[in-house]
Amino acid sequence: MKLRIASPITTDSIVDGPGLRAVVWTQGCQHNCRGCHNPKTHSLVGGFEVDTKDIIEEIKSLKLHKGITLSGGEPFLQPEALEEIARESKNIGLDVWAYTGFTFEELLKNNNPSYLKNLSLLNNIDVLVDGKFIENKRDINLKFRGSSNQRIIDVKRSLESEKIILNEEYMK
Ligand code: SF4
Repeated sequence: MKLRIASPITTDSIVDGPGLRAVVWTQGCQHNCRGCHNPKTHSLVGGFEVDTKDIIEEIKSLKLHKGITLSGGEPFLQPEALEEIARESKNIGLDVWAYTGFTFEELLKNNNPSYLKNLSLLNNIDVLVDGKFIENKRDINLKFRGSSNQRIIDVKRSLESEKIILNEEYMK
């Protein structure tokens, strides 16, 4: 499957979730958050295409990593390709974090045409940092998120209980 990315995977990241992580930078985002830190990732035709198999091979070759992080750009514009990457990563014991400008509720709205694809991807994500970056809620003291409206969500527990359950450890 093809995936459009903004740049090669970053390895050894310690700022995109806990522990040593590999970050997949997806290309394409339509949220247009004022003060976005990564405007080069917005164009839907920018970046370059890669084969998910190659990304998965690269992830499998990593040593000492705790997990992967799906970032961008807006990962949920490409849920099918990322579901494959997330699932394979979990199969080898990595945890999966993802950032999105959508809210958890928006991703799973019944009338969202991508509902099933979003759900499949969410089923392979451990922690979701959701919501747009809001410049006047920016707080550099926050851990793993840029603005205070964003939530760090325990995805498995939230899906099971059908309500948002925050990952309190990281929301402090
Ligand atoms: S969702 Fe992220 S990449 Fe997209 S505009 Fe907002 S801050 Fe930028």
